[in-house]
Amino acid sequence: MWWRTEFGMTKDALYRKIRGIADKAMLCRPLVEHDYLLRYFQHHPDAARKLNGVRHFEIRLNSHYKESTGFWAVRSDGAEDISAKIVLYPRSDEPKAARQEIQNQIDEFRVRVPKERCGICMEDIEGAGEVDHVSQFSDLLREFKETYEVEIELEEQGSFGMRFKNRDLARLWSDFHARHPLQWSHPDCNRRK
Ligand SMILES: [Zn+2]
Repeated sequence: MWWRTEFGMTKDALYRKIRGIADKAMLCRPLVEHDYLLRYFQHHPDAARKLNGVRHFEIRLNSHYKESTGFWAVRSDGAEDISAKIVLYPRSDEPKAARQEIQNQIDEFRVRVPKERCGICMEDIEGAGEVDHVSQFSDLLREFKETYEVEIELEEQGSFGMRFKNRDLARLWSDFHARHPLQWSHPDCNRRK
């Protein structure tokens, strides 16, 4: 694991260290920990593009959710926010966290809507059924991110796994999701979709 070999600490310790740099920083001033941050952000999934021509890092208010601050990469061609969280908690956890955030809607549908017919093959459901999205879930999530131009940061949440760090963003996602229909389906039909 690179956080051990390169930084000599656990994942959580490294994240705390990076957060510490952010917490004590003044807004909109070049950070003196530049070399350290540069090494860290080399592991960002979009590092090649985000760090190309980077002059310094600084802490700014985030563009969409102004109550929170984050790292920005300041380049000769402009500045862009760069998520410190995603470096250690990569995007592969994102769909799982996004599902967790709307699980109450799935549960509610399961109770409210009788399980009668498969929304995919339109045949009756005799045995097991699954609650599934009329659109593909991954498409919904992508559409959400594009519509609101957001990058989703995750945080660990007890035994439940990961959740959206920004709770306003979680509510926005939940509202967005609620506007898209659910359906019952055969487990096999759902898997073949
Ligand atoms: Zn079916």
